[in-house]
Formats: sequence, structure tokens, C-alpha cells
Amino acid sequence: MTKPNPFEVVQRQLDKCAKIIKLEPGVLAILRTPMRELHVSFPVRLDDGSVKVFQGFRVQYNDARGPAKGGIRFHPDETIDTVRALAAWMTWKCALLDLPLGGGKGGVVCNPKQMSEGELERLSRAYIREIYQFVGPTRDVPAPDVYTNPKIMAWMMDEYSKITGQHQRGVITGKPVCIGGSHGRADATARGGMFTIREATKELGIDLSKATVAIQGYGNAGFYAACLIETLFGSKVLAVSDSRGGVYNKDGILPQAVCDYKVTTSSVINYPGSKPISNEKLLELDVDILIPAALENVITKNNAPKIKAKIVAELANGPTTPEADEILYQKGIHVIPDFLCNAGGVTVSYFEMVQNFYMYSWDEDMVYERLDKKMTSAYHAVLETARKLNINMRQAAYVVAVERVVEAMKLRGWI
Ligand code: NAD
Repeated sequence: MTKPNPFEVVQRQLDKCAKIIKLEPGVLAILRTPMRELHVSFPVRLDDGSVKVFQGFRVQYNDARGPAKGGIRFHPDETIDTVRALAAWMTWKCALLDLPLGGGKGGVVCNPKQMSEGELERLSRAYIREIYQFVGPTRDVPAPDVYTNPKIMAWMMDEYSKITGQHQRGVITGKPVCIGGSHGRADATARGGMFTIREATKELGIDLSKATVAIQGYGNAGFYAACLIETLFGSKVLAVSDSRGGVYNKDGILPQAVCDYKVTTSSVINYPGSKPISNEKLLELDVDILIPAALENVITKNNAPKIKAKIVAELANGPTTPEADEILYQKGIHVIPDFLCNAGGVTVSYFEMVQNFYMYSWDEDMVYERLDKKMTSAYHAVLETARKLNINMRQAAYVVAVERVVEAMKLRGWI
């Protein structure tokens, strides 16, 4: 079955929002297209002495509210349309969290799992050499995303600093703390999601200490979500998965132990004391909270009728197709939409930019407190709008975010 093009999904979501807020056609046309995009091809020498050409992208979707902000993915299936979609979601996400930032995204078509550390470093530095004129601390600030991490951010910051002849910590976020990263960045996406889940359960009358959870994806977002939902709220994680499959235990799994196991075996599958479960079946488990934390388009019109969770907390970007969204809404499932649920990462990235600009470091408690405030206030802005206009949470998130972007474009005199 062919998966929907994520950029077409973005445009359809935006079109729905435009109808609700009666957006002028010309303004909608601006928002349906990225403002700028850069396509690059660059050579990297591999360990066997051969040279391979890689393709990369950087998209600045809309920067009316401030410098573009968004991660860099290293993925074999990366396409320009995925990067455009993710850059659009970053635009709405930054606006929804009321950050003074626009939306951007980058990616390189590569398979990091088949590359040595040396090859990855050469690729990361080469990509930055190609895009350095396009990015910068006051222009466009990348961050980690799928299959990129703080070490890669450090190489990229170092390469950019060398090219420009200045220490440029603020060019990229998600760095290791000792070279300008923020405390609390590592688990920020999941922690931010936890604050929205907490607010949603208050609303739905779910006792989090008795709640059951299934999580698809066990990388940065999924792993920390599993740990935090257990340690902060006492909820029980029944199933987790990664690209190779999943594991299930009706009495709960131990998130940290599964992570330790994955470090040694490179997957969660066959974790002792658990039963295997496919990624598809995991989504259909009878749990209170389902957290998709891997890739796009995993909840579709085919499996949406079988979803039993009361809350779908979208830590992944774009896990639910528009058709599936409608089905979940009709079933009364409370969806915390991606660009609200996973906004903790960019929020702490923004805190990292602020700390880099004034060369100071906040402690963890300060980061958590400010993150909680931002996420809680964004959640309630969305909930209130959903109630007021009688629309679902995703449409409400679009309404809040798009109205803010449009206001910025108007005030700047673009429209
Ligand atoms: P990651 O690379 O750390 O982890 C991705 C995980 O997904 C891995 O466990 C991988 O095995 C798993 N996976 C890959 N393909 C899969 C498949 N077909 N089925 C099931 N699992 C699969 O990436 P991440 O940073 O955790 O990002 C995950 C999602 O969260 C992405 O959609 C990303 O855009 C989103 N997100 C991440 C951040 C962040 O700060 N890391 C912020 C916002 C949104």
C-alpha cells in the first residue's frame, strides 16, 4: 500500500484550517509553499577509499516570526517532500508555542546504520559546508532529528565555526552540554509531551498512576517517554517497539532495562520476559495512552477503527493521516496533535539559543519549569479553541498557529 505524501498531508490539513478561519486565498497560497529551499549534492570519502555522492536538503518554510528552526534527519528514505512537510510543521509548532522562530528542516539521504563513525563525521561536516551560507544563529538554526544526535550537532557546530572563523555555538541546538547544549534538552521532546498528557488526563478524568501505555519507536522520543511516564506519573508501559518489531508484557516492561538491552543487541526485540508484538498490533493494543514515536503515516484509515487507546499522544511528526484523524475524532479518542505534543524539543532548543546568545547556562529545574509553563499554556490554548469552534484538537492547533503566522506576515507588511 502506498503511503500518502507527507507534504500533501500538510497542505490538506492547512486547507481545512483555511476554511475554518476563512483565510484569504492569496494568503493560503503563501502558506501552502515553502519560502526557500536548498538542494545539495556533495561527495564523501568512504572508509574503503571510494567516493560517494550524497543528496541533502534544507528548507526554510516560513520565517515571518523569526529565524527558521528545525532538525536534520539522516534517513535512507528521505525526500524533499518529507522535509517540506516537517518544515511546515515546525512553522506551526514554533508559532503554537509562541516562540520567536519560523520553521525549517533539513535532511540527507543516507543510511547511518551502515556507516562508520568516521564516515558519518565526514558526511556531517560536508553537509554543513554545503549549507553554511543558508543557515546561521540569526537566520536558520538546525537541531537533531531522526538518526542524528548531539555528537553530530557538535561536529556541525565545529565545522560552521571553522568556516566562519568565530565561535558559533548558536548555529545549532541539541549540542552536548559542555559545548553550549542546554540542560534538559536530551529528554525535552518526551518531557514536553508528558506535560500535555498530564493536562489531557485531567480533562478526561484518567488516573495516570493507573494508566497503561504503548509506545511505537524506541529512540530519543520513545525511550524517554517510556522512562518519564513511569517515573513522573507511575503509569505502566506494556509495549514498546523499534524498526525491527516490538515487545509486550501485560504486567509492564522496565523502560531502562529495555534500553540497556537494546544498547547491547541493537533492538528491543526478544527482550527477556516479554512476548513479541508487531508494530501494527502494538498500535491496536487496549491501553489508555498510545504514543506513536517513530515515523509518519502509521495510523491510517485501515487501522484507525481498531485503535482502542483513550489518548493518542503524537510524539512523532505526522503519524496520523487526515482520514484516520477523522475516524479517531468520531470514535471520541483524544488526539494530542504532533506539533503540540512533541514541541518540547524545539522549546528547549529555543532555550538553548537564548542561553547561547547570552553565554549563560540555566540549571535543569529552571528548564523544566519554563518548559512546563510553555507546554501547558499551548495545550490550553488549543483545547479552548477546539471547544469554542467545535473542532478537533489538530484543527484547533492549526487555527492558533496559523493565525499567529498570518498576524506576523501582516505586521511585517508581507500581505
Ligand atoms: P530516533 O532516531 O532517536 O528514533 C527513532 C525510533 O523509531 C528508533 O527506535 C527506530 O528503530 C524506530 N523506527 C524507525 N522506523 C520504524 C518503523 N517503521 N516502525 C517502528 N519503529 C521505527 O528518532 P527520534 O528523535 O526519537 O524521533 C522520532 C519521531 O519523533 C520522529 O517523527 C521525529 O520527527 C519526532 N520528533 C523528535 C524530536 C526530538 O527532539 N528527537 C522532536 C520532535 C519530534
